[in-house]
Amino acid sequence: GLTARLQNVFGKLRGKGKVSEEDVNDAMREVRLALLEADVNFKVVKQFITKVKEKAVGKEVMDSFTPGMVIIDIVNKELTELMGGSQSKLAKANKPPTVIMMVGLQGAGKTTTSGKLAKLLQKQNAKPLLVAADIYRPAAIKQLQVLGEQINAPVFTLGDQTSPVEIAKQGLQHAKDNNHDYVIIDTAGRLHVDEELMAELHQIHSHVNPDEVLLVVDAMTGQDAVNVAEHFNTQLSLSGVVLTKLDGDTRGGAALSVKAVTGCPIKFITLGEKLDALEPFHPERMSSRILGMGDMLSLIEKAQFNIDAEKAKEMEQKMRTASFTFEDFLEQMDQIKKLGPIDQLMDMIPGMGKMKQTKDLKVDDKQMGRIEAIVFSMTKEEKQNPEIINQSRRKRIAAGSGTTVAEVNRLIKQFDEMRRVMKQFSDMMGPKGNKKAMK
Ligand code: GDP
Ligand code: MG
Repeated sequence: GLTARLQNVFGKLRGKGKVSEEDVNDAMREVRLALLEADVNFKVVKQFITKVKEKAVGKEVMDSFTPGMVIIDIVNKELTELMGGSQSKLAKANKPPTVIMMVGLQGAGKTTTSGKLAKLLQKQNAKPLLVAADIYRPAAIKQLQVLGEQINAPVFTLGDQTSPVEIAKQGLQHAKDNNHDYVIIDTAGRLHVDEELMAELHQIHSHVNPDEVLLVVDAMTGQDAVNVAEHFNTQLSLSGVVLTKLDGDTRGGAALSVKAVTGCPIKFITLGEKLDALEPFHPERMSSRILGMGDMLSLIEKAQFNIDAEKAKEMEQKMRTASFTFEDFLEQMDQIKKLGPIDQLMDMIPGMGKMKQTKDLKVDDKQMGRIEAIVFSMTKEEKQNPEIINQSRRKRIAAGSGTTVAEVNRLIKQFDEMRRVMKQFSDMMGPKGNKKAMK
């Protein structure tokens, strides 16, 4: 997938003390291929590459960074920007109800997304009304009613013999009369964009004057999703896009192109058929998900202000050679504590987010204290050569630190794992360039 491809690209930057323009060009050639392969619109790719190159070439490489890190940082920021920069929130009417009109092709996920959105709004203590305005698809009304029942949200319907415009109009009135603060209108789709569909949507639009026109598109359809978005947008002036079925085998291209092509932000994504599988779309999270790096770069940014530069340099050398000891570990913990709550930080370190999810690694500030106690109970020799900590030493350390042998075992295991991840990561990043400009 895209993530693997990109990681591969950055992996190739290893072993370079200084990044030349040619290196940037090489890396960007690969990034370009990776994006095209992921079905990102080619114009978008072209612009993206140009921007990244402009920013990367000649950029100062600060102490304790590598040129590879600088490039990843730029790619990350540009990907985020490409997807809209920051989260685009759902509009809210000055005077309720807020009217949301769901549009899109048949099978894109309009009806299920309507239900999911209603559920999300309910969680925010809102009182949404669902309006069944798809009178064409067999059982579409029933489908919405079933969803409504599951979440205990009322569904307004006039059957399938009344025009969708009339249903939408009366639905809105019903919402006003019954103090609903949101109205979600589920409209019909066709297999292809056609004039009849657009004419009907226009009519509904002009009668209910929606605060949001959300286009629902299926991420699995790749470039097609973007074409559909472009087409709908010229016809209806969309306010946002919902990208569905991101749980499936999608190459991610649609997520990257939609905003750039249509100017219309992705507001939500859906990740499954269940009713809680809807999430607000966060460009920066999607970008780091695509890059597969957690939020490593923001950690580096944060660390820059807080961590002693000399110590960081030393630590990096140790990470690279895997001569990292429990003494370094203690020191690192001290440095890390300056940065903020530990569980947030763990998410930012590559590999750690995943480690945290495994049930035996739950780190909070209290647990940090126990970990420290264990390390303090080691002899100097043990701290420097963790390999020598055998069973009887573990017993002694546990007794000395007021913990259990199981806890000591766990820490040593985690320490080994951490060393392994650090080694891998620093190998990938390559040696750092000291204040070398990437020329
Ligand atoms: P509509 O024709 O646009 O109203 O589409 P529907 O809401 O009826 O959805 C079409 C199909 O896609 C249904 O089987 C949904 O369960 C399925 N679907 C919708 N969203 C998702 C999603 O995020 N993931 C998966 N796997 N399936 C989805
Ligand atoms: Mg439907």
